[in-house]
Amino acid sequence: MSRVAYVNGRYMPHGEAAVHIEDRGYQFADGVYEVVLVQDGAMVDEMPHLDRLDRSLRELRIAPPMDRAPLRLVMRELVRRNRIRTGLIYMQVTRGVARRDHPFPENAVPAFVMTAKRIALPNVETVENGVKVVTIRDIRWERCDIKTVALLPNVLGKQHARENGAYEAWQVDDAGNVTEGTSTNAWIVSNAGELITRNADQGILNGITRLTLLKLAAREGLTFVERPFSVEEAKTAREAFISSATSFVTPVTQIDDTVIGNGKAGSLGLKLRDTYLAYAGGEGRTP
Ligand code: PLP
Repeated sequence: MSRVAYVNGRYMPHGEAAVHIEDRGYQFADGVYEVVLVQDGAMVDEMPHLDRLDRSLRELRIAPPMDRAPLRLVMRELVRRNRIRTGLIYMQVTRGVARRDHPFPENAVPAFVMTAKRIALPNVETVENGVKVVTIRDIRWERCDIKTVALLPNVLGKQHARENGAYEAWQVDDAGNVTEGTSTNAWIVSNAGELITRNADQGILNGITRLTLLKLAAREGLTFVERPFSVEEAKTAREAFISSATSFVTPVTQIDDTVIGNGKAGSLGLKLRDTYLAYAGGEGRTP
């Protein structure tokens, strides 16, 4: 079946969908994006993702490409046309097409692209055995809270992870604290059983999955704290895991050369994963 993309108001065959060579996203990474999980044909945490898209746009002073109601219709139409049961919707808004010059162009119209693809969720073996992460220096800018398409450090980090047999790379700031993964948030469970994830300052992307997990943890009466944690602390933690819209909660059982806990997925991470899956299949979904 051929894929369909949405480009500036038109549904097009994916293979023919294109933007102009002077799109500012292409030339300056002057744009933002959002990724929404589709599970069993429904969107998961749709509204928080669209709220974050609005926030990213506001921070960069890019006008929203369309109102929320029609945007949600496009999302559904794309899911329908691509026959997605489990997959992703990717949307990207750039400042638009203009003669190349650094300042904001005066009359550019934001360019809006949406694509959809099927994905396979992490399999049981990956979840039970957990994954390896490697640590790298965080070389990004000071506004990692904005979900911009400027992902080169993340791309280099993920490639480094792959070349070192790891699933993800945890970025580490100058103080020796883990900021986040290249496309996931980072969590540990202390030996006292406390859930720890970095506070959402401008040094990390405030993951929608992260926010939902904090909400669910509070509801379950789990002890958690949002604060920086060091690589050393992570390596001696009882458990570690990563979160994102596509990996949910994926246990981490090795950080660099150090095995975490007994080398198998930790119980708190697995419990949170189950709680999240129930949420994603229930109150978190919008058909
Ligand atoms: N951190 C970064 C840098 C990301 O790119 C992502 C997702 O793409 C996340 C965290 C997780 O965010 P979310 O839970 O909204 O998918």
